[in-house]
Amino acid sequence: YARSFDARRPFTLEYRLKRHDGIYRHVLDNGVPRFDEDGAFLGYIGSAVDITELRRAEEHAVQQRTELAHLSRVTMLGELSGSLAHELNQPLTSILSNAQAAQRFLAHDDVDLGELREILTDIVAEDKRAGEVIQRLRLLFKKGEVQQQRLDLNVVVQDVLKLVHSDLINQSVAVETRLAPALPPIHADRVQMQQVLLNLIVNACDAMSHTRAADRKIVVCTQAPNGHAGDGDPPDGDGSVSLSVADRGCGISAERMENMFEPFVTTKPHGMGLGLAVCRTIISAHGGRLWATNNNNGGGACFHIALPADVPVPQGAGSYP
Ligand code: ADP
Repeated sequence: YARSFDARRPFTLEYRLKRHDGIYRHVLDNGVPRFDEDGAFLGYIGSAVDITELRRAEEHAVQQRTELAHLSRVTMLGELSGSLAHELNQPLTSILSNAQAAQRFLAHDDVDLGELREILTDIVAEDKRAGEVIQRLRLLFKKGEVQQQRLDLNVVVQDVLKLVHSDLINQSVAVETRLAPALPPIHADRVQMQQVLLNLIVNACDAMSHTRAADRKIVVCTQAPNGHAGDGDPPDGDGSVSLSVADRGCGISAERMENMFEPFVTTKPHGMGLGLAVCRTIISAHGGRLWATNNNNGGGACFHIALPADVPVPQGAGSYP
């Protein structure tokens, strides 16, 4: 306030004020300097508005968005649970057969210790694999605070593909990844980014249910700012890190192109129509954009995400001399 006042500049301030009864209220304060015809300063004219309710409503909206994102994530994981169980069963089955083999070895008099050591190494590796699957799942089921951190989108892609690995095999869907080397990090919540990508991949699989099994394919690309990715993708000139998920499914009709991002818009018999709405909310909350196009060659749709790169502030920037 003092800085603006001394410079006779307009100001906008937001602060808490303790009322006579000891209760704090949020206040939005605007001031504009007034001058007479000769330019002499006459003081300020302004307003002080109590915005406590507005702040509360905003906080409530953020909380509800987080709840909705969590709900839709859990629903989606419910749909995937069959293949997730399979993902866990694989290492467990392998551990069991390795342990049984070890028991058989031990029943003999001349135990081959080298062989036994190999079996134990396998058991440890498989156990770690099962542990990692559980770890990835726990993270997604957890109802945590949104935690923004520096993230490598390529790692997010790899983690999500591990999670849907057997689901894709069950549906005969091939995946190709074109991950940009030296991708700058983004500033984002890991779980929410995984959720968005998971959703786009699940949708891509759904869209290909009528595609010939041999033609079912998803291409996941990441692209550094100003880089070039897959065919037909324009280079992104706005300093954003981008990610795209292309499928060979039914594509998107002109009328659905925008309204599919609205909540409860679905063409699936058991769909909720929340996936894309939640994805767009998440990406917008991260300062990014999510949109869709139809592919030129081969048909199908492509979903694009652009997120601001987390560029480190150069040393000394923003500090006072
Ligand atoms: P849901 O999957 O429950 O229907 P979404 O919000 O994720 O909810 O998707 C909304 C609709 O957008 C889908 O029902 C479908 O019609 C359309 N859609 C989403 N992804 C694709 C895609 N990859 N190809 C074609 N249509 C899609």
